Amino acid sequence: GTATAGGSSRSFARSLPRPVSTLVVAEHEGGFVKPSSLSALAAAEAIGKDDNRVSLLLGGSGPGLHKAAEHAASSHPLVSEVLVADSDVFAHPLAEPWAELLRSVQHKGGYSHVIASSTSFGKNLLPRAAALLDVSPVTDVTSISEPRVFVRPIYAGNALCTVRYTGEDPCMMSIRSTSFSPTEAMSEAKVAPITQVDLSFLSEGSSGKSAWVNLKSQDTERPDLANAPVVVTGGRGLKSAENFKVLEQLAEKLGAAVGATRAAVDAGFVPNELQVGQTGKIVAPELYMAFGVSGAIQHLAGMRDSKVIVAVNKDADAPIFQVADYGIVADLFEVLDELLKKLPDK
Ligand code: FAD
Repeated sequence: GTATAGGSSRSFARSLPRPVSTLVVAEHEGGFVKPSSLSALAAAEAIGKDDNRVSLLLGGSGPGLHKAAEHAASSHPLVSEVLVADSDVFAHPLAEPWAELLRSVQHKGGYSHVIASSTSFGKNLLPRAAALLDVSPVTDVTSISEPRVFVRPIYAGNALCTVRYTGEDPCMMSIRSTSFSPTEAMSEAKVAPITQVDLSFLSEGSSGKSAWVNLKSQDTERPDLANAPVVVTGGRGLKSAENFKVLEQLAEKLGAAVGATRAAVDAGFVPNELQVGQTGKIVAPELYMAFGVSGAIQHLAGMRDSKVIVAVNKDADAPIFQVADYGIVADLFEVLDELLKKLPDK
């Protein structure tokens, strides 16, 4: 257009903030919204507090879904609506039908932002849904400076990059749950209405090429690695699966989750889901204890944001000591023995 009298009003219009509305894609388990999704809500709050219409999307079937929907409805004062996609198709984290669901919900709601947490599910779903909506997603956001300006780590966390999203709405993003603390649910939080999503878009082919086979999860009382306040990690220095059992005893005493390096996983000491790092889980507990871990950058990428880091390694030059708050240059087996003797049972 041409700038006649509109010159000043145009620049005024440009400085007006665009309205925001956010769709949070939530995961649930055992009738509750998962903590990682509550972190996604905290990210929605960072995008806009006052004029941000926040809808939370849940999918699945059965009583667990309905309980989770009730939890979601009072999970955060910003939530104005809980959308429930009630179908077996969404009971498992299959990205294909979920991406179609997201497209349909977005077309109806016209959100400016769509947020998911960078869980295995979120990482799988977001790019597919973004492709269906013809936008480019911003992944692994760790901080939000403006509604469309984000900080995200690059080069395995060795640099932080600030990006401005200049594409069409919706701005789709995944967030690192360790960077956004879930807001405590307010006791007087308003209860948001729960709405059923119209699923007429579903067709025979919605589940695409993947099918759900089964879920194998460790039967353990221990906290989930990604959210545990204390993590004890073993590296190649532990030398065997047998020795990891000793580490588990320590975890038991500390109420901690057990983690591992990729070298320990590759050596077959522990299953893959315990891996911490660039290609494993990202953790930021209050206390991170590393036994026989050298501190490769790919490992540090997954734990360097921990509040207090303790490292035990017999090599005084191991790079892990550069990020450790407390370092013990010693044989890890001796230290483990002593800790187990001195620590009371939980
Ligand atoms: P090592 O480097 O072998 O270190 C073992 C340490 O134990 C040594 O420092 C040694 O001094 C010490 N030690 C041995 N015996 C004892 C003892 N008795 N007492 C005390 N200390 C002892 N790694 C990850 O962890 N997570 C990832 O997600 C990850 N992603 C990767 C992605 C890519 C693309 C690549 C290329 C690599 C990735 N890696 C990852 C691998 C990473 O580069 C390292 O190889 C790995 O982290 C090393 O594991 P480690 O520290 O257990 O083993």
